Amino acid sequence: MMYVSTRGGGEPITLSEALARGLAPDGGLYVPAQFPESHVNLPPPRSLPDIGNWLLKPFFVDDPLEGDLASICDEALYLPAPVVETSDHNVYLLELFHGPTAAFKDFGARFLAACLAAPRMFDAPPLTILVATSGDTGGAVAAAFHLRPTFRVVVLYPDGRVSPRQAHQLGAFGDNVHALRVAGSFDDCQALVKLAFADAELRREVPLSSANSISLGRLLPQMTYYAAAALRWHSIHGTRANFVIPTGNLGNAMACVWTRALGLPIGEIVLATNANRAVPDFLASGEYRPRLAISTLANAMDVGAPSNLERLRHFMPDFERLQRAVTAEVVDDAEISRVLRESESRYGHVVCPHTATALAVIERRRATGDRRPWIAVATAHPAKFEGVVEPLIGHPVEVPESLAEILARPSNATPLAADYEALVGVLRGLPVP
Ligand SMILES: *Cc1c(COP(=O)(O)O)cnc(C)c1O
Repeated sequence: MMYVSTRGGGEPITLSEALARGLAPDGGLYVPAQFPESHVNLPPPRSLPDIGNWLLKPFFVDDPLEGDLASICDEALYLPAPVVETSDHNVYLLELFHGPTAAFKDFGARFLAACLAAPRMFDAPPLTILVATSGDTGGAVAAAFHLRPTFRVVVLYPDGRVSPRQAHQLGAFGDNVHALRVAGSFDDCQALVKLAFADAELRREVPLSSANSISLGRLLPQMTYYAAAALRWHSIHGTRANFVIPTGNLGNAMACVWTRALGLPIGEIVLATNANRAVPDFLASGEYRPRLAISTLANAMDVGAPSNLERLRHFMPDFERLQRAVTAEVVDDAEISRVLRESESRYGHVVCPHTATALAVIERRRATGDRRPWIAVATAHPAKFEGVVEPLIGHPVEVPESLAEILARPSNATPLAADYEALVGVLRGLPVP
């Protein structure tokens, strides 16, 4: 399998090359040159690593990593991803927050780390994973690369603009993970990271690799939990699984679209956004207008210019077909708050603000007489967003064990001015792992 840019520039390259490059040289995103044929015979439900090894095989054909796929899946995807029934009949949750940092980003970050580590010798020169985060990605990437020989992680986050627990988590790894709290916004962090990736001289001295959300190494593994959930659902109910997906940069939802295209029993795919409405507006009008992100209660979805929309449009260039394939709805902060306030009595579950957007969309469908079962994708554990959730539900949220373990460690982040030379100074001075 070869990969090409969504913008058509450059030669087709292998998956390993696409993982190393991240973004294509023409600014596009890498996608399969030919999407694999859909499966005719579906296996019975199996473990996530087994399903990953089966489902992702065509994407690894003829790649240097082909022979490593099974062990990569075993190492990275051995995480629970249960579909649980709520006390509201016919509303289910696909819980993707049972990994080490309690958000679905763990699946992608761990898989990417395993892919990058597989071909590396123990005496290879250090590779620095440089990542800007608005909260969840940085923690997941730090956890995935923590204590891996020959890797260093540098995470930039906007000081004071992530939740206190997210900040603690980012600074709690230590060892080969360096957290930088930047005096600026997430956009400032991202701009610094982009400058570093464009700096050929720096990269000769300090080899860099990216782990951002457009990486195929994060997108591909996200397909496995949709496949596993749909196979299990089909074996129990005999029907296709319908998903509502809390959406920001569209990486999680894109994985679901690809999974359905491979022939897995998935029915409707509905995207729930917060007040950042670029995707719903595009699906309504056919016109894409990127904008500045606005802050909402579901902060991990505060994306004004969702980059994976380019992959979705490339996958379905016919707009009317695209409109039939996915729908999208906006959920504002008032509705997120209402769903959170009612979530315990209505569903018997406390959810995170992002998951609340999916439940709000399901409630709208109910109100129009839709009685079908729906699966809301639960993207993070509510304990990560206690500052939003606890005032609305009126009591503390229990902290899952893995998160409690990280929060119990001391935490230390280095302050950094939003200044490129300051970042270069840090990168040049990193200790060798
Ligand atoms: C990243 C994130 C999202 C958005 O996922 P995308 O792939 O960017 O659409 C939703 N919820 C949580 C908790 C997240 O961390």
